[in-house]
Amino acid sequence: MTFKSNIPLAQYTTFRIGGTARLFADVGNAMELAECYERAQKDDLPVFVFSGGSNIVFSDQGFPGLVIRLTDGGLQIDEKRSRISVGAGIPLGVLVERANKAGLSGLENLAGIPGSVGGAIRGNAGAFGVEIGDSVFSVKAFHSESGMVREFSKKECDFSYRHSFFKTHPKYIIVSAEFRLTPTTHPDRLLEASREIVALREAKHPQEVFCAGSFFMNPVVENPKLHEEFQKDTGKESKNKRLPAGWLIDHVGLRGKMIGHAKVSEAHPNYLINTGGATAEEVLTLASIVKQRVRDEAGVMLAAEVQLIGFGAPH
Ligand SMILES: Cc1cc2nc3c(=O)[nH]c(=O)nc-3n(C[C@H](O)[C@H](O)[C@H](O)COP(=O)(O)OP(=O)(O)OC[C@H]3O[C@@H](n4cnc5c(N)ncnc54)[C@H](O)[C@@H]3O)c2cc1C
Repeated sequence: MTFKSNIPLAQYTTFRIGGTARLFADVGNAMELAECYERAQKDDLPVFVFSGGSNIVFSDQGFPGLVIRLTDGGLQIDEKRSRISVGAGIPLGVLVERANKAGLSGLENLAGIPGSVGGAIRGNAGAFGVEIGDSVFSVKAFHSESGMVREFSKKECDFSYRHSFFKTHPKYIIVSAEFRLTPTTHPDRLLEASREIVALREAKHPQEVFCAGSFFMNPVVENPKLHEEFQKDTGKESKNKRLPAGWLIDHVGLRGKMIGHAKVSEAHPNYLINTGGATAEEVLTLASIVKQRVRDEAGVMLAAEVQLIGFGAPH
């Protein structure tokens, strides 16, 4: 187990923002996680665990403790039972591709979502009508206080829109998961479906910008007038009483708004982007202007989907 000191964190995030970690370790399994927590306890350091870095903003001050990055963890396919077992640190894109190639359907619409399998399960990542939780069979998670690994059934994971049990219980670190998929005899169709999804994503908004994807969750909106306006504006029906945060941000006139080098994306107003050299402070100031304007002018409270780390507030 190697612990490195004063490691810049920006390089590990898709936002490319953040100060340094006092201590940093790459970890591939529960045993190594246990070793990390022992070290943190010995040195009396706070701990933060992440993986793909595609849904976080590290503060400009960085993190005053041990930052653990989950990597790899292995992947096994059981074609007879249509199951895939995968380590939490494996990129989601690798899981999707391996499932497609094996002719196992269920994950193909998730192609193009950055980050790891563990991060995706924690936030129940989704796109194009599919959420990762739909295909989860079970999840194994390491409890940072007891040092034990517990297995959760899909039901116990408590998946809902951008939510799982793990989001509200950060002491559990997901170490692996088993997926139950649907067998098909046409892997080529699954690969083609994923290619189409990636092309759609690229056509809708640039994927190569420095950002953390959608900054805010799509809120439940009670006001029927806003739903009517949304429908008139876009020709689309709102789903489950939720309106796209990006539409609301545009509605209050903030498309393209800039604070320093942080900007509300022109292409997708729910993406706050680092145009080059943005600080976490600039991103947070912009996010707070967005929240305030949407609250004051549309009467809707936005909640961040992105996790803010090292700002002193609970995440
Ligand atoms: C261009 C772009 C497009 C995106 N599109 C989508 C989209 O279409 N749909 C969507 O849902 N999301 C999207 N996202 C957001 C992001 O990709 C997902 O939220 C992703 O699942 C986060 O995984 P990660 O490994 O990067 O998490 P990280 O950013 O590393 O961590 C995020 C949070 O998860 C926690 N975490 C990470 N790993 C674990 C683990 N193993 N156990 C417990 N907690 C853990 C961390 O502590 C942190 O709080 C997009 C992001 C970008 C940059």
